[in-house]
Amino acid sequence: MKILEALKWGELELIKAEIENPRWDSDLLLGHVLGRRREELYLDRDGVLSATAWKAYQDLVARRTDREPLQYILNNQEFMGLGFYVDNRVLIPRADSEIIIEKLLELKERSPRPEVKIADLCTGSGALAVAIAHYRPDAYVVGTDLSSAALEVARYNALLNHVQVDWRQGDFFEPICGEEWDWLVTNPPYIPEEEYRKLAPEIFEEPQMALVGAENGLIFYRRLAEEAASLLKRDGKILMEIGWNQGQQVEELFKKSFKTRIFKDYGGRDRVVYAELSS
Ligand code: GLN
Repeated sequence: MKILEALKWGELELIKAEIENPRWDSDLLLGHVLGRRREELYLDRDGVLSATAWKAYQDLVARRTDREPLQYILNNQEFMGLGFYVDNRVLIPRADSEIIIEKLLELKERSPRPEVKIADLCTGSGALAVAIAHYRPDAYVVGTDLSSAALEVARYNALLNHVQVDWRQGDFFEPICGEEWDWLVTNPPYIPEEEYRKLAPEIFEEPQMALVGAENGLIFYRRLAEEAASLLKRDGKILMEIGWNQGQQVEELFKKSFKTRIFKDYGGRDRVVYAELSS
């Protein structure tokens, strides 16, 4: 079996299974087996696969046609230009969540201070916390998660990216209570139960606890709104990822003690709520 023939075979299998980007996935899976970049496969299109490589490739294509997300098979997802290890213990980082990092860097603290403290609640793979530690090396960064399995992945991602993050296990903001923070960021589970059931099959491979939130997906924002004033320094700020139709409801929850703004994602939909303690 030649490389190009194998790629075509894989693409066809994925088309039959109605996978969204069949050619892309087929290329990346064979690249993964051979330890080669996509372009290299095409440069060596007549190269012959060993029997072991062909078998390994068929196994990966079968996993993908069974709807395992590509990122779990490759154990990799890029976020903010950094590489992250992912498997089914964690939500796969999404490009839309990069808005949180971009805004955090843009809206930097107005006055200098001896130590900037930033906490990422429901950190999952650690994508937000690790990216913050990378782009704000001056800050003390904490990542929390209820799932200790997720924190194992997050810890590994900090090592991979050579950054220091303090990982704390516990429910939402409980691990950071009793301290004051400059920034809280979070991408909590916010999908309402009835919407979750309608999503693409790949999503059911991801941890449900990272996706589905009670109270129409609003429970974490409500709890944070109730507690946030005591968790923040006087000019503390919050950046929260939200579902496309939750902006107004989340702003409503925070408006008593916070000035709020909504930021849109690359698709032009509401994606992040910014809340600043109004003194
Ligand atoms: N953005 C994710 C999705 O739509 C949801 C992430 C979350 O619930 N925090 O799949």
